[in-house]
Amino acid sequence: MRRAGGLLGGVLIVMVSACGTGSNGAIDDQNVGSSSGSDEQDIGSDQQDVDSDDQCDTSTPYAEGGFSFTYNLDGSLPDEWVDEFTTIMGNLSEWAPIPACVHDVPGMSSPMNIYAWNGAVENPFPERPDMRGASISGDGSETWMVLEIPEDEFTYDYLHRYSVIVHEYWHVFQLGLTRDNAKPVWLWEGGAKIAEELYLQQEYGQSEFDNDLFPLVATGLSQPADFEDYVDADWDINYNFSTFMALALARELQEEQGLSEARAFEVILKDFQAAKLTEPDWKIAFAETFSMSPEEFYATLDQYPTVASDQDWFEGDVLDVPSLMPSKDLTFTDVLSASAS
Ligand SMILES: [Zn+2]
Repeated sequence: MRRAGGLLGGVLIVMVSACGTGSNGAIDDQNVGSSSGSDEQDIGSDQQDVDSDDQCDTSTPYAEGGFSFTYNLDGSLPDEWVDEFTTIMGNLSEWAPIPACVHDVPGMSSPMNIYAWNGAVENPFPERPDMRGASISGDGSETWMVLEIPEDEFTYDYLHRYSVIVHEYWHVFQLGLTRDNAKPVWLWEGGAKIAEELYLQQEYGQSEFDNDLFPLVATGLSQPADFEDYVDADWDINYNFSTFMALALARELQEEQGLSEARAFEVILKDFQAAKLTEPDWKIAFAETFSMSPEEFYATLDQYPTVASDQDWFEGDVLDVPSLMPSKDLTFTDVLSASAS
């Protein structure tokens, strides 16, 4: 199911993931489920002294230990994965602590449950029978992370079994930065994808950037504004096209505004999302952050060439933009600390 966007009142809605159809069989996610718009949830926490007025300060992390996760890791998962999961979660909570504004998101509370299992077995958590795929899901009173890792990803050593952890964590980070304002989708999902691939590049020395994010389905070029919402998964396989748009924006920021590569990605991943706290109209926040309107940016996408796919498993025209891929030596931590350096 695709996120409808906006606040949904009162109804029990659990967002489940959509399956990606990419070369590695990766299952991608959808983001957070319902929020109760009318009745403010009393999200219990003993950290309630964190400022929760209209201007919650995104530079202040949740008080140390104040936002945490409960790991529900099924025995079907290989020990190696469990070890790596623990390492990744430790790195992320150090490099990108969940911002304090997450307190203000209805249905979010600490600790957040993470449910993970090997897709070779049925969902082993009877308390949440509808879970599948990878997502941040919620029912209005609680929000949780779902990590069903496809068996193939263990069999064939796909790094997606690790990057999906970063992707879903990043959505929790975004929720804290924005107080749950996911528009536009191409920057929300493209940002999560950039985060996961930069993590892979830094920690494993390889990522989907090495494949130039194949396939970047060319159809999207005719209507980039469609990607402000979720589109048919065939147009945005593994969110590759959304990610292309975010990479093209990073290029504009470097060429037109002289930002360093790391800082350009930081502005996209963090500053823009945080700007929506004070300016909820994302188009205004976009113009203020990037010094151009979304429409002006979309017009720049015409310059990128399309070619016929040269891989058997995908038919059709694709974008061929190796020059947009981040530098091989750019790290996630460079990006996250760019403004500080
Ligand atoms: Zn996502």
